[in-house]
Amino acid sequence: NTDIQLELRFMDYGKGDLLLLARDVSKVHRVEEMRRDFVANVSHELKTPLTVMRGYVEMIQADGSSLAPHWQQAIDVIEGQVSRMDRLVEQLLVLSRVEVNTDDEIKQVLNVPEILQQLLKDAHWLNQEKKHAISAEIADGLGILGIDTEIKSAFANLLSNAIAYTQEGGEILVSWQRYGSKAKFTVKDNGPGIRPEDVNRLTERFYRVDKSRSRNTGGSGLGLAIVKHVLHHHNAELVISSRWQQGSEFSIVFEENSVTSV
Ligand code: ADP
Repeated sequence: NTDIQLELRFMDYGKGDLLLLARDVSKVHRVEEMRRDFVANVSHELKTPLTVMRGYVEMIQADGSSLAPHWQQAIDVIEGQVSRMDRLVEQLLVLSRVEVNTDDEIKQVLNVPEILQQLLKDAHWLNQEKKHAISAEIADGLGILGIDTEIKSAFANLLSNAIAYTQEGGEILVSWQRYGSKAKFTVKDNGPGIRPEDVNRLTERFYRVDKSRSRNTGGSGLGLAIVKHVLHHHNAELVISSRWQQGSEFSIVFEENSVTSV
């Protein structure tokens, strides 16, 4: 039966004895696949009503001069919530896409210094309110093999989190360096930090350390779950080191076989 998936594990009992453990994981995989499909379908179905709602909200806003101030305010709140839901649906669709293993995708040579220059320019807009001092140390000529959109979104996610969660006027350092024979991208901030018990759970779907703070920043708790899956495709690792009330450092370490010169 080709539907059965077995997980095999050899255990060494010494003196040349081996124990073979076989576990039937087909059901686990099937349930996981159903969950993924369900989330993807629901998210997809939500897109149309959201687009319709946005259309009407924009129509009312365009004619805003005839609205009493309290209705104007109500429409602005609805617009904000529609945008938030839009982002959430978009992230759920991205997550269900990257959760599927795509090992066989062709990897391109990515010019990371160029990608990061663009990212820093874009961050300027995100940073207008918080006015952090953002600095960068970027190694020239250091690239990787990867999937363009996925890697850009992983880098962008770590930087936008640092901007969002660090209190106003903070310091953020973005760096891209050789790391032995590997390569490492890091975003370091002097923000609120994360308690050790939360650090290991950050990449779970919908996990947010401080729900109210996160909601204020428009966060959904899906960003790092997406990053984790993207990095899994790239044979790269997310390393988080954080000290409560002192700051955090989020790094992505790319294995030697992904590193290339550009
Ligand atoms: P969200 O959409 O809520 O930002 P993420 O998955 O990107 O979701 O992040 C999960 C949680 O990790 C956030 O809600 C936040 O509490 C915490 N977090 C992420 N980055 C930082 C950071 N640089 N400093 C402090 N907390 C952070």
